[in-house]
Amino acid sequence: RVAVGIGSNMGDSATIVRNAIDRLGGIPGCRLLAASNMYLTEPVDYREQPHFINAAVVLETELEPLEVLHALQSIENEFGRKREIPKGPRTLDLDMLIYEGYQSESSELTLPHPEMHRRRFVLEPLAEIAAELVHDSSGLTVAQLLEKSSEHFSIVKFDK
Ligand code: AMP
Repeated sequence: RVAVGIGSNMGDSATIVRNAIDRLGGIPGCRLLAASNMYLTEPVDYREQPHFINAAVVLETELEPLEVLHALQSIENEFGRKREIPKGPRTLDLDMLIYEGYQSESSELTLPHPEMHRRRFVLEPLAEIAAELVHDSSGLTVAQLLEKSSEHFSIVKFDK
């Protein structure tokens, strides 16, 4: 199983995230196991930007980790990914969070994703669909990581 985090804060983000979920389920060699609700989240690093819509999915895959990454990148490009400022607004951001049983530390692909264990905008949607999934570098489950996270930024379910 592979967990993917989805974010958007440029354009019609709710529609972009919904369409991205459909596209993720359609990657050859992947099957959508679960998709979370959407959440409206406060920006964390670079604060002067619109709120994000975030969601997470879990896929079953027969692809190698790098093949999954490349598929995610081509979907980002398909949605006309724009980003003028590092950590700033973007139309679609897809992060590979966990590829079960696999760890890597190259700059092209770091797994588990290096920031995910801190970020409630990642952990909360993921815990909704895969609370028991193990974060391989800490050995903790997603639910345990969420319980430990002290991040205070606001996250609300977005149901439009
Ligand atoms: P960003 O779009 O800012 O999340 O960063 C994209 C860059 O991060 C690309 O060059 C990827 O090769 C690299 N990267 C490293 N690890 C990951 C990961 N787990 N998921 C997505 N991109 C990653």
